[in-house]
Parts: sequence; structure tokens; C-alpha cells
Amino acid sequence: MKISVAIDGPAAAGKSTVAKRVASILGFIYIDTGAMYRAFTYYVLKKGVDPQNEAASCALIPEVFIELLPGGKVLCNDEDVTDVIRETRISSNVSYIASYKAIRLHLVDLQREMAEKGSVVMDGRDIGTYVLPNAEVKIFQIASVETRAVRRYEENIQKGIKCELKEIEEDLRRRDYIDSHREFAPLKAAADSVLIDTSFMSVEEVVNTILSIIKRKTGVGEVK
Ligand code: C5P
Repeated sequence: MKISVAIDGPAAAGKSTVAKRVASILGFIYIDTGAMYRAFTYYVLKKGVDPQNEAASCALIPEVFIELLPGGKVLCNDEDVTDVIRETRISSNVSYIASYKAIRLHLVDLQREMAEKGSVVMDGRDIGTYVLPNAEVKIFQIASVETRAVRRYEENIQKGIKCELKEIEEDLRRRDYIDSHREFAPLKAAADSVLIDTSFMSVEEVVNTILSIIKRKTGVGEVK
């Protein structure tokens, strides 16, 4: 039985951390769709193209080849961009790139192809509403913007990335605004999704909640 789990929500709501754990516990493939929009943004900047220029950014589609490797590595035209796509210059431009329909259609094709290969946990903004509308399990994961900013700040500090808490919060607000107001496939909870507010939950609690929802809806997995 092939199962798809869609996890959507605003930036830095902890989606990728829990999606990765759930996928590893269940033996599913984890697909980080945000990494694909980030890798595309990296390439646009590398080419010296202005990410706010839709025509010039979309013109690069035929020359961008993005791969997500099983171990979590992200490749853009064979270059390992796993770490560089987390930099602030990428985060602050990615929402422009993700608002262009032609780029979305191109990346959504790749995402659907990956989901055809087996059971997946896919995280993003439009997975339950657009990419995999028939996913067996749909989660919409939220947390207050203050909580999300502190989590992202601590994550960056741990990784040795210099940052300011206030700037992170502003960037999250700005990205959420662009992501939820774009015309095509905006950030939105699917009508049949389960809402989880993680503001006061540990990673363990969120993972266990999602595992029990998967078990209830599909019969797959064990619940502690
Ligand atoms: O998930 P992450 O924060 O890494 O995503 C980076 C950006 O990519 C988001 O702010 C959003 O603009 C875009 N994105 C999207 N649709 C997805 C995944 C990410 O528009 N499915």
C-alpha cells in the first residue's frame, strides 16, 4: 500500500524536523519541497539574475536540474547546495521565485514524480491543496510567529550562522505574507487537513501526534 503524508504550514513551523522523523520511523521517503524552491533561488542568484524579475528567472527553467538525494543532500546541477540554500540571501528571495507559476509547475512535476515511487512524507506549502490532493494524511502545522522565530534563531546559532532574532521574525512574517497571498497554489490549509499548533509542543509530541493520525487514517505504523 502506497501512502502519501502531506505536511504544510508557514515558515519555520518545524515541518521538516518532524517530517524527517516520521518518514524515518515509517520507512517512507522524505521530500523537502522547500529545498527545491531554495535550490532554484540559489541558481537564479548565481546567474546574477534578479529574483524579482519573473521572466528572467523563469527563462532559467531548462538549465536547472535539482535532485534530492536519499541521505538529505540537495544537488543543483550536480553541485552540493545543501548548506548554502539555508543562507539568509536565499531565505529572503525564495518567496519571489516560489510565486512564479512556471517555476512551480516545473517543480510540482518533479515532486509528483518522486511521490509515485513509494510512500512519502512531503512537506511544503501547497502539498495537501495542490501537489498531492489525494494524500491519505494531511497535516497543517502552525506555531506563533514569535515561537517560530526563536526556534529558527537557535537553529542558526547552533549551525554557526550569524543572525538577529528581530530580522528572522520580520523575514518569516514577510515570507508568510507572500506565500499566502500569491495567486497560484498559495499557502493554505486543505479543507481535509488536521491542524496541529506546535507552539507549546515538543518535537517528540508532534511526531507522536502525526504517527497516531497516520495509524488512525491508514492503519500503518505503531503508536507508542
Ligand atoms: O520550507 P522552506 O521554508 O524551506 O521553504 C522555502 C520557501 O519555498 C517558502 O517560504 C515558500 O516561498 C516556498 N515554498 C513553496 N511551496 C512549497 C515549499 C516551499 O512555495 N511547497
